[in-house]
Amino acid sequence: MAEDHKLLEFDGINQIFHTGKEDLHAVKDVDLSVDAGEVLCLVGQSGSGKSTLAKIGAGLRQPTSGQVRFDGRDIYDRAHRKTWSSFRRSVQYVHQDPYASLNPIQTVYSILSAPLLKHRVVRGRAEAEEKITELLAAVGLEPAGAYLEKFPHQMSGGQRQRVSVARALTLDPKLILADESTSMLDVSIRTDLLAMLTELRTHRGVGFLFITHDLAMAKFFGAEGSMAVMRYGEIVEYGPTLEVINDPQHEYTRALLEAVPEADPDLARRKRAARLAREGDAA
Ligand code: ADP
Ligand code: MG
Repeated sequence: MAEDHKLLEFDGINQIFHTGKEDLHAVKDVDLSVDAGEVLCLVGQSGSGKSTLAKIGAGLRQPTSGQVRFDGRDIYDRAHRKTWSSFRRSVQYVHQDPYASLNPIQTVYSILSAPLLKHRVVRGRAEAEEKITELLAAVGLEPAGAYLEKFPHQMSGGQRQRVSVARALTLDPKLILADESTSMLDVSIRTDLLAMLTELRTHRGVGFLFITHDLAMAKFFGAEGSMAVMRYGEIVEYGPTLEVINDPQHEYTRALLEAVPEADPDLARRKRAARLAREGDAA
């Protein structure tokens, strides 16, 4: 069915935090959208409002004003409970700090089996383990048996980040809001994970809001998509990723570009062999 709405739309979003004496306008009049199979990179310095916008898009924070639509429907209109439940399943937010988002008293098995059992993707332990083994392999955690009974504190930062990505994949999402989701990973693992996410995008049509402060990462994952540059809550530049990177119009974008060393995925692959000799990815 051809419809003229996008998968996820931000329409005139504002977020004002009332803290202390002054109000903080953390997100200002943002209009953006992401469609199926598309990647929208959101870049900007720390504190520019990227996570706040992503949480608004993920249904985790109702904005001060503006509308978020998923499949053309206002997600914060609680009159549409059906919209909400399909939204919660289809849109996954991968937190920038996996330590804060993984329950410390749950094992990897419990973390990943809960959504699978709740939504009846699998029935029973054997089926759950089979599906979880696939998910862990997809994020490079093998053999699965070495991770199933681990608690978050028993893993490195990079391993925890991969568990959160695996959790986001449990329910075959249509859209992933990845908030600095690869920032804690060793470069070679990061390249592998981004390749896997690219496959989800191109083969399964998963849309991505890809947040990073690293423009080289955006160039690597989002070359075929668009890029929005955020500064003090405002989108100051928007366009095809490579055009923004190769011909930045805004001074702030130029400053961001100057701060970033060029990514070298080939170097990453060459380093992979060396990494495998060491144990795990850096915490
Ligand atoms: P980014 O992800 O780009 O680093 P954030 O969205 O986390 O930026 O934060 C944007 C601004 O909003 C920052 O100044 C931050 O301190 C502030 N902020 C974020 N969340 C809250 C909150 N819950 N209450 C008050 N201020 C907040
Ligand atoms: Mg953030």
